[in-house]
Amino acid sequence: MTSKNNLSTKIIILVECILLISSILFCTVSVYRAKMGIRRAINQRMLDIANCASGSINGDILKAIDSDDIGSPEYNEIYNTLTIFRDNVGELEYVYSIKEDGKGGYMFVMDTDPNDPGAYGDSVTYTEALDKAGHGTAAVDTVPYSDAWGEFYSAYSPVFDSSGKVAGIITVDFSEDWYEDQLSSQTRSTISGHFVILLFTLMVAAFLSFTTVRPFVRMQGRLLEGKMRAESANNAKSDFLANMSHEIRTPINAVLGMNEMILREYSQTEENDSLDVPTARKALDNIGTYSEDVRKAGHNLLAIVNDILDFSKIEAGRLDIADAPFSLSSLIVDLNNMTLFKAQDKDLEFSIEADSSLPDALSGDEVRIRQILTNLLNNAVKYTDRGSVRFMISGEKTSDDTLLLKAVVRDTGIGIRPEDIDKLFTKFERLEMQHNSTVEGTGLGLAITKRLLDMMGGNINVDSTYGKGSVFSVRIPVKIISSDKTIGNIQAHLGMDTPKVGAYHESFRAPNAHILVVDDTKINLTVVVNLLKSTQIKIDTATSGAEAIRKAAANLYDLILMDQRMPEMDGTEALHRIRDDAYSASNRVPVICLTADAVMGAKDRYIAEGFSDYITKPIDSTSLEKMLIRHLPEDKVIKTVAEVTDTVSVDIPVSDDWGTLRLAGIDPQTGLHYCKDNEELYRGLLKEYATIKAEKTEDLNRCLAEENWQDYGVYVHSLKSTSKMIGAADLSAQALKLETAANNEDIDTIRAEHDDMMTKYEVVTRAIISVIPEAAGPGDDRDVIEFSPASDK
Ligand code: ADP
Repeated sequence: MTSKNNLSTKIIILVECILLISSILFCTVSVYRAKMGIRRAINQRMLDIANCASGSINGDILKAIDSDDIGSPEYNEIYNTLTIFRDNVGELEYVYSIKEDGKGGYMFVMDTDPNDPGAYGDSVTYTEALDKAGHGTAAVDTVPYSDAWGEFYSAYSPVFDSSGKVAGIITVDFSEDWYEDQLSSQTRSTISGHFVILLFTLMVAAFLSFTTVRPFVRMQGRLLEGKMRAESANNAKSDFLANMSHEIRTPINAVLGMNEMILREYSQTEENDSLDVPTARKALDNIGTYSEDVRKAGHNLLAIVNDILDFSKIEAGRLDIADAPFSLSSLIVDLNNMTLFKAQDKDLEFSIEADSSLPDALSGDEVRIRQILTNLLNNAVKYTDRGSVRFMISGEKTSDDTLLLKAVVRDTGIGIRPEDIDKLFTKFERLEMQHNSTVEGTGLGLAITKRLLDMMGGNINVDSTYGKGSVFSVRIPVKIISSDKTIGNIQAHLGMDTPKVGAYHESFRAPNAHILVVDDTKINLTVVVNLLKSTQIKIDTATSGAEAIRKAAANLYDLILMDQRMPEMDGTEALHRIRDDAYSASNRVPVICLTADAVMGAKDRYIAEGFSDYITKPIDSTSLEKMLIRHLPEDKVIKTVAEVTDTVSVDIPVSDDWGTLRLAGIDPQTGLHYCKDNEELYRGLLKEYATIKAEKTEDLNRCLAEENWQDYGVYVHSLKSTSKMIGAADLSAQALKLETAANNEDIDTIRAEHDDMMTKYEVVTRAIISVIPEAAGPGDDRDVIEFSPASDK
């Protein structure tokens, strides 16, 4: 930008210099020519005087005068005539007549000087002009000459006799001083005239430069600038695309690769007829690990997309800074939880030092402050291979209700070269790519951080020693809501509120609520249905806009979750049709837009279309639940403890319960794993398992008695899957064996193993009922039976 400005300024200066130099040249030439003209004019005037004098002299008389005639009337006549000239023409110094001396030179005839006249016959200083006059042509000296009377320029005019011959010469002397004075004074006035012209020319040049040249050059500059900007935007776009394609491909590859591994593991396990518990457990462990990798990759991908969206929002000036209350201690604890594991993964030491006197109740944009600090902490961990990451938080009250929050992140990592520090905050700029190519990143984090800080009135400072480590310090002004409570000893909180990774609890239940979920992709429906399973909401699904319209017309739903992009009819059109149908039962219910369209302005656009709210894919279960709580009828929402206290702590079951289950061959860990570590879900599953046991037993026994192997196979398949889900691997394996036997009509195996399997089923169920008494099925008297391993048989 600066170089482009310099370029246009240079062009303007060049044009102006050309104008100035040509004006000066023009003026110099003009002055020179004028000086010549002035000299000519002075000479002409001198000649005129000389000619005038010679014109009044009789050539025949002059010719005839010699030394004897001095004082004669003829002599006096000429003398008087010349004297009149001398006395009346102010400029001239002397006037006299001369003639050839017959020896090639010239001599005085008479001199009108009253004081020191030249005597008849005295020689006269020879000049070219004099000689020219001697030959009949009036002339003026071009250079001064000097004689006994001084230094002069003289004009010489010949006097002719009646025969036309030169009879003598009338000479008029002008002092050199007079001549030079004339010349310089006239030149001065000419120069000042030209100076005025020069000034005027310069003014005209400046005016033209301002009105024509500058705009022209600026326009050229702008064009050049536009071109350069377009080129650099193009380069940035290419770099960006290359970088993004790499960044996005990496997690997508991980998702696809890991998913492939899960599928293989699943089918190998499924096909293994003689699956034993350790093998099954190993397979499950593998699947768990792969799933965790998929989850991480998905989160990375989402983080990249969010960074891009954030950046585009900031660039377009569409990102607003919120102002809402938040707890500083919770923020610090969350940052600790987030960073600790990552640091531990890389064997780095991580420590937090927070000034205990800092007020806890603050107000500001917590999400953005968290984003800034998370980015600095993540970078510190990412770019450090050995040593430690330290996080220090302090503050300075700048007024009664304002705190300048200071956060410092210090690492012992790779450091940054001094010449690279300025590039840190440039978008898409990543340093040391030859060393960092395996480190995930978009080069957007610090650019976003810097811009967010600017928007909040904060700032960032970097101090780094290449190869040794870096210190990133930020200052963020926040409001103090109350100074009554301080954050206290933050160390005491660290680790206490650490959520169990992956633990999930629904924040509400709404068994009486009835919603419709619309999505053309069945797997997305499955995701939503499963995410909401524990809320007990009754869920209908539709796989097209048309089906959604039909179902909405027939049922009064409490809410509709509508996917936006669907073939044939998109979500917006389906919404309009539902709203416009006066007879539709659900034409007034809240409809929430479900879309992957998270770009700027999307929310406003969908709300403007008539959607009640908007949620982006991939769906975050917490956001989904929050949204449902907001839009479902209040009387149908029962908030659970988790939502009310907003805590993630889980009631860890008493080990006795789990011990009882383990004795019966149930591995609660496996069961919990299938329930996303949601213990409540697991307990519900166990209860359901035990509740239907009587019915299932009856079905299996009946099929055995009736030798209905086909149905036997169906029922035993179901026992296999449900036993697997609760962690009863042994029972599940035996059910698989009998399912295979039923499919093969292997009656002997069925008859040999059926009772054993049913006994195991009984043992498992009893253990469940002893842990969850309400799991006893209808008519089941086992709720009074005390389970003991002895009842195994
Ligand atoms: P990225 O997504 O690449 O981490 P950032 O904008 O957060 O993007 O950082 C830009 C670049 O600054 C990084 O690619 C890295 O080269 C450098 N950088 C950032 N933080 C650190 C740090 N703590 N130590 C060394 N280099 C860092």
